[in-house]
Amino acid sequence: MATMVYHKRPNFIQNLLVSTQGARIRRKRYTHHTWEVFDFLKNSQFWTQAQFESFQAERLIRLVRHAIKHSPYYAGLYASRMLSEKDIKTVSDIKKFPIVSKEEFRENNESIVSTHIVRKRMWAAFTSGTSGVPLKAFFSHENMQDRIAFLERLYHWYSPGKWRKRASFTGKLIVDPEDSSGTFHRYNYCINQQLYSSHHLSENNLARYVKDLTKFAPDQIDGIASAIYVVADYMLRNGQAGQLKPNVVIPTSETIWPHIRERLEKAFGCKMANQYGSQEGAPIAYECPAGGFHISPESGIFEILRTDNSSCKPGEPGRMVVTSFSSEGTPLIRYDIGDVASWRSGTCSCGRHMPMLETIEGRLDDMFFTTERGIVPRIDSAFKGLPSVIIATQIAQVGQDSFEVRIVPQKNGYYPKYADSIVDHLYDYLGASVDIKLKVVEGISRTRGGKLPAMVNEYHDQDMKIDALSSWNIVK
Ligand SMILES: [Zn+2]
Repeated sequence: MATMVYHKRPNFIQNLLVSTQGARIRRKRYTHHTWEVFDFLKNSQFWTQAQFESFQAERLIRLVRHAIKHSPYYAGLYASRMLSEKDIKTVSDIKKFPIVSKEEFRENNESIVSTHIVRKRMWAAFTSGTSGVPLKAFFSHENMQDRIAFLERLYHWYSPGKWRKRASFTGKLIVDPEDSSGTFHRYNYCINQQLYSSHHLSENNLARYVKDLTKFAPDQIDGIASAIYVVADYMLRNGQAGQLKPNVVIPTSETIWPHIRERLEKAFGCKMANQYGSQEGAPIAYECPAGGFHISPESGIFEILRTDNSSCKPGEPGRMVVTSFSSEGTPLIRYDIGDVASWRSGTCSCGRHMPMLETIEGRLDDMFFTTERGIVPRIDSAFKGLPSVIIATQIAQVGQDSFEVRIVPQKNGYYPKYADSIVDHLYDYLGASVDIKLKVVEGISRTRGGKLPAMVNEYHDQDMKIDALSSWNIVK
């Protein structure tokens, strides 16, 4: 339905339309298959490492066989190297297969897609690349249901039972951007989910958000991290911390920095669970109640590699290369997804042997590159001790060695000296030779998907990135 027409309807009709749409989505996402996979995952989460490995080898064989049969790109690629599923005996044999870069994925986007299902009968996801050319990935209905089953396992770790009350912050225009009447959510009756708009979070509207959230009393808050953060920050500033009592906050889409986590957990009085996934259909990782950021080995294979493609040791950051078992529509086999991560050694007190990640540093696309320092993946410490009168910040790379710090202060109580400490810290991270300009702005614009990235690279010099990558100079 056209968004314009939807926005002209009264709220209760909009709720009905959201629920009708929700019913359709629920029928497709929550099927017998979904719950079957979910039951399987409830059991497999306590497997030994050997069990995971034998499962992965078997699924890898199946995936490679599928790709050769149905994806013209992989068929050609593997034929030219005389590779087939027969070359796989154990998971480590994956190393015999070539890595597919993001550029190769983009250039061959059409011929990667499997031909055995009509595209109209699959789910399509689009992800924007740095060049601005969107990448397409298709998922069969079963692939999508697999992903839902994995997410349900995460939700169950924190709130057992079906259909917990979810408050979800969405980037979709569920409420007319011009609407300031005061109701910034719509209810999806079918999965007991209150959807909150990420496009109305102005200071004037926040009291209403908190009031409505308190009334709804969600078991789980999820969705766009920066939107949830704006609400959390408002609650902290207004002495409302702990007013809501969800079991967990599960942000999506953006890199979560420690100071964001700290404030989210304080505002909502519960744990924040990080998760990792991607539009292209990467395998899944998420955080358990004991704090382990576990990958789901049943969803695929994660590799963390150095520039020479050897494997990184625990704690050593490297490029994440992924293989996804639920990628029948657009097979992902050794796909260099453009994220940087590192392994964590040891065992988790939750008792699961699912391997753990230390961190996901973020997307290479969102990282900064300077002549002096190379890649600068994280600069979160620059925000430490930020006074609460600064509502939002964003750092943008705008030129080869030039940066812009955008800050949104509260109307009263802000002094320019507050921002000086951020700029000073930034020189420590970016090197003394860069140029940093401070800009006080009224608001920071969200991307079309509703994201509010704290670090944004608006310069995008591919050559420089490749240079930086080859020198692999990670700033810690
Ligand atoms: Zn754990």
